[in-house]
Amino acid sequence: MKLSVAIDGPAGAGKSTIAKLVAKRFHLNYINTGAMYRAITYAAIKNEISHESVEELCSMIDELKIEFKGESLYLNDKDITEDLCLPEIAKKVSFYASIPEIRKMLVKQQRRIAENSSVIMDGRDIGTVVLKDAPFKFYLTASADKRAERRYLELQEKGIEVDYAKILHDIKQRDHIDMNRDVDPLRKAEDAIEVDTSDMNIEEVVEKLSCIINNKLNH
Ligand code: C5P
Repeated sequence: MKLSVAIDGPAGAGKSTIAKLVAKRFHLNYINTGAMYRAITYAAIKNEISHESVEELCSMIDELKIEFKGESLYLNDKDITEDLCLPEIAKKVSFYASIPEIRKMLVKQQRRIAENSSVIMDGRDIGTVVLKDAPFKFYLTASADKRAERRYLELQEKGIEVDYAKILHDIKQRDHIDMNRDVDPLRKAEDAIEVDTSDMNIEEVVEKLSCIINNKLNH
């Protein structure tokens, strides 16, 4: 039986960490759609194309091959997974992700991936747009302070020098753009289950989601 699980929520709510672990438990393909928007942003920065040059961006995307291999993302056969975490990408990605033409192209690719396999997909518009009919939808949240703290520790661990106040500012700015854009803004799907992860550890969240999935599968 093909299974699809949608996870949405703001930056730093724990979506990718949780999705990877739930994917292992239920043998699902994990698709990180944020990484796809980040890959476009990475290529745009490399090619010096601003988010205002929509036509140029679309031609650029036509030439790009985005592939997931395990937990890594390959852009035209080059592993760029590490580069996607850079603060410069995080700062600019929401501007590129607000462009309707870019969203249309990526949503099409994401649906194609989900057609062919059982997936757990995380992002901002998965339960509302990409996998509207998914039987399992979750909306993960946490306070902005908690989310900034997690990002700060994550980057520090990777040896990337960062300033906490700046991260908090960038997260709030990204939330604002993602929630207020005209096309497919971040919002909880009506039929999604909301989980506030502020005071939960990773295992607790994974357990909660797994229980909900198992309960529904066994009925
Ligand atoms: O999940 P992550 O923080 O890597 O996502 C980076 C950015 O990509 C988000 O802030 C948002 O602007 C954009 N995004 C999106 N729709 C998705 C996934 C990500 O607009 N499905």
